[in-house]
Amino acid sequence: MSQLKIRKTLGKTPITCPCCKELKTLNDTPLITIFQKQAKAGVIRKKTDTVEALNKEILSSIEYYSDAVNQKECHQYKLWACNQCIKDEKAIIADFSKQQPSYGGPYIMYLDLMLNCKYCDTSFCFSAKEQQYWYEDLQLTIDAKATRCNDCRKKKVVQQRLMVLLAKESVFTEEELEELIECYEIIGSKEKVQEYKGRLKNKRNSK
Ligand SMILES: [Zn+2]
Ligand SMILES: [Zn+2]
Repeated sequence: MSQLKIRKTLGKTPITCPCCKELKTLNDTPLITIFQKQAKAGVIRKKTDTVEALNKEILSSIEYYSDAVNQKECHQYKLWACNQCIKDEKAIIADFSKQQPSYGGPYIMYLDLMLNCKYCDTSFCFSAKEQQYWYEDLQLTIDAKATRCNDCRKKKVVQQRLMVLLAKESVFTEEELEELIECYEIIGSKEKVQEYKGRLKNKRNSK
């Protein structure tokens, strides 16, 4: 199967990069290589043994992926970027062999995504790097998505720590009281901060 032949026949097909929104040719993207790898691995619909069949397969893949220009409206599975965007580190090529499949997919690339936090409704960036880490290193299924912004993620960790600290029935040590104050400061609970500051002060005075 000749790469060169495919590049010659398809390479000049114009396609808009969903990342920078500039008009590129297929040769300005890593898509041909990715689709060839996918065809070889049997990821795309059927195995393709001839150049003609592969061309056809790649063309239909391109058709499928070419409506990914508007990030907000398209499915994340369809996101891709041109070589320049990858070079500028605006996108990362995915290793689909490491992804845990779910419905749809695989992801062919990771692009920074703006998501809305489920807990405070502010928008936050689920970065390409984080996505790569989630889906390839942690091997979370590819439909797993970040639901919390950084602040809410921090708060969640603090809340879990608080549960552990507060589960302790016995009297708190000075260190534990300090940690409780710190936790409540992060959560933003002023009353609790005051309460535990008072308890810490009493503890120190009683020494
Ligand atoms: Zn681009
Ligand atoms: Zn949030």
